[in-house]
Amino acid sequence: MHQIEIDSVIRQIAVEYEKEVRAEYLTSIKKGMKKLYDFLLKSHLPNSCILMGYVRSIQSMLEAKDNFLGKTLLVIEPQEFGMVEKKIFFKLRDYDLNMEIKIGESNRLFHEWITYYLHYSDIRRYIYPKYLEKLKINTCVYCNSEFISTSHLVKQDKYGNIVKDEKNEVVIDNKGRFQLDHFWPKSKHPFLSISFFNLQPSCNFCNLWKSDDDIPFNLFTNESNVSSPFNFFLSEEDAINYAKTHQMDCLKIHFKTTVKNYDVFHIEEVYEPFKYEVEEMFWKKVSNGVSYLDMLKKSLPNDLMVDNDFLYRFLYGYYRDPRDILKRPLTKMKQDIAIQLEKLAPKIKV
Ligand SMILES: [Zn+2]
Repeated sequence: MHQIEIDSVIRQIAVEYEKEVRAEYLTSIKKGMKKLYDFLLKSHLPNSCILMGYVRSIQSMLEAKDNFLGKTLLVIEPQEFGMVEKKIFFKLRDYDLNMEIKIGESNRLFHEWITYYLHYSDIRRYIYPKYLEKLKINTCVYCNSEFISTSHLVKQDKYGNIVKDEKNEVVIDNKGRFQLDHFWPKSKHPFLSISFFNLQPSCNFCNLWKSDDDIPFNLFTNESNVSSPFNFFLSEEDAINYAKTHQMDCLKIHFKTTVKNYDVFHIEEVYEPFKYEVEEMFWKKVSNGVSYLDMLKKSLPNDLMVDNDFLYRFLYGYYRDPRDILKRPLTKMKQDIAIQLEKLAPKIKV
């Protein structure tokens, strides 16, 4: 519901992510990729050359100096995905991606081996949650209606004893209450499964409904001041009718977007119960307006240092700045409907 512009601050966060992933897992990732390559070399699979080429390409993208872009696959940016796939990788056929491979006792599809050896699950669990906090993302990026969070619990064994690592430090077990989706699905483009700018935190439902569908909405963008492709609104007639009748049925939240395939998220249905939030906004916006904000300001002690944005949030219950949309659920809806109600206020008598 909101795109984050990739500026120097965001790039720095991605670099910190890259450093941490490399420090924790690079040695193991390299070992895993070598193991997969060696297995394919000795295998009699009809497409082993193609698969080996793919693994080789990942190996070359693990070190910035080993590839034409001069950066690792951890920090390549959305507008580079296509170029990297075309120049270094190549688009694997479904047949190759889904080739069943048995290494040791484990049977996995080729794309699953890639994400497995890239330590996707570990990175998702132990590293990514910290970066979610740095990015100040607290909601599903698709629906903006659900909180996502991570609890950092002290790990205990089955007897309730605190688990410590080899440095005798307490092990923290991150329990993420979110799903990690991929802008370019990892089952089709597994080389991007741990790339920072390909990761899109979402709620369970959006992740389930999206599945592997291609939805051309990337959380990150290289463009600045892009206008939002999403809009929530009430019909003007409904708003006027509600003011006259106070019937909740009139408060239907509409949603439109120019993003293709976004209907998989069933946004209007998901937002149906939130009409009560809109009702509260309606009364505050239409009946109180600016005068209530002034009254609130005067009633606060002079030494309480709060700015206008805080007062506004206190009164209306949402952030006004579009950059804060992912901080709290329903912010996009409230921002859009507030603008509409301000315009409608002169036409509505309550
Ligand atoms: Zn969602």
